[in-house]
Amino acid sequence: MQLQERIAELKKERNAVILAHNYQLPEVQDIADFVGDSLGLAKQASTAEADVIVFCGVDFMAESAKILNPQRIVLHPETKACCPMAAMCDPASVRMLKKDFPRADVVAYVNTSAECKAEADVCCTSANAVKVVNSLESDLVIFLPDENLASYVQRFTDKSILPWPGHCPTHESITVEKIEKLKKEHPQALVLVHPECRPEVIDIADGVRSTEGMLNFIRGSDKREFIIGTEKEMIHRLSKEFPDRIFHEVPGAVCPTMKLITLENILAALESMSPEVTLSPELMDKARAPLERMMALGRGD
Ligand code: SF4
Repeated sequence: MQLQERIAELKKERNAVILAHNYQLPEVQDIADFVGDSLGLAKQASTAEADVIVFCGVDFMAESAKILNPQRIVLHPETKACCPMAAMCDPASVRMLKKDFPRADVVAYVNTSAECKAEADVCCTSANAVKVVNSLESDLVIFLPDENLASYVQRFTDKSILPWPGHCPTHESITVEKIEKLKKEHPQALVLVHPECRPEVIDIADGVRSTEGMLNFIRGSDKREFIIGTEKEMIHRLSKEFPDRIFHEVPGAVCPTMKLITLENILAALESMSPEVTLSPELMDKARAPLERMMALGRGD
């Protein structure tokens, strides 16, 4: 029996749902019940009625699923699938920064650990970061942990943003030189980039969107060809949704930890019902409040 069939069978037996991020391997996206960005996945996780959520993404996403729906068993098939940017921020340093700037509101991008979220007033994703920041009372905002997203948000707010010095290595690898080269090769193509990209890349893009925002942008555009400035697997999703359009990836835009989730370890997780995401109830309660505050605000793009 094929791996896919065995997974489908066990999924039924366990009453499980499979959620996958847009950056997952194509074969993982293809067996998922839902594929989306962090905000879409958080929404799906919070309303999932299945007994088991198999989360195909990186650590902080699986944690958020558990925090938002603690009654469910959340399986993260490979615990080494961690986000390097989330690892650049730690709760003790955040507490120190809060002491230094007591009147600042703290925004935690969802790409943070549960411990860092617990220190925040509100969370955001790349789909609603501007909306979230502009919804706050204070005119001073500590923004964790992505300095590129913070600098992007700063373009759309009068508030002063104190950025945490973190970044996504995958999006940092997208440079002006690479985009300019692609533009020369494909002069008809529009350039869409993710707000985790460097400011100078944002400056030369035709559109700056979260991954889900890119889908909406393309849906509403009459252009045929696009250069996609985000993780390369996004093109699998785009090509499925828009088979008549042409997409170009940026060489080297790969998130290696996203690729650690495989059909093999998804099957093993369903067989053994592990590794399971476990967090203390106190931590989950603290981290849930900023996540729910974000979700009440909805999408921004
Ligand atoms: S693409 Fe970047 S932000 Fe997303 S999981 Fe990979 S390293 Fe983290």
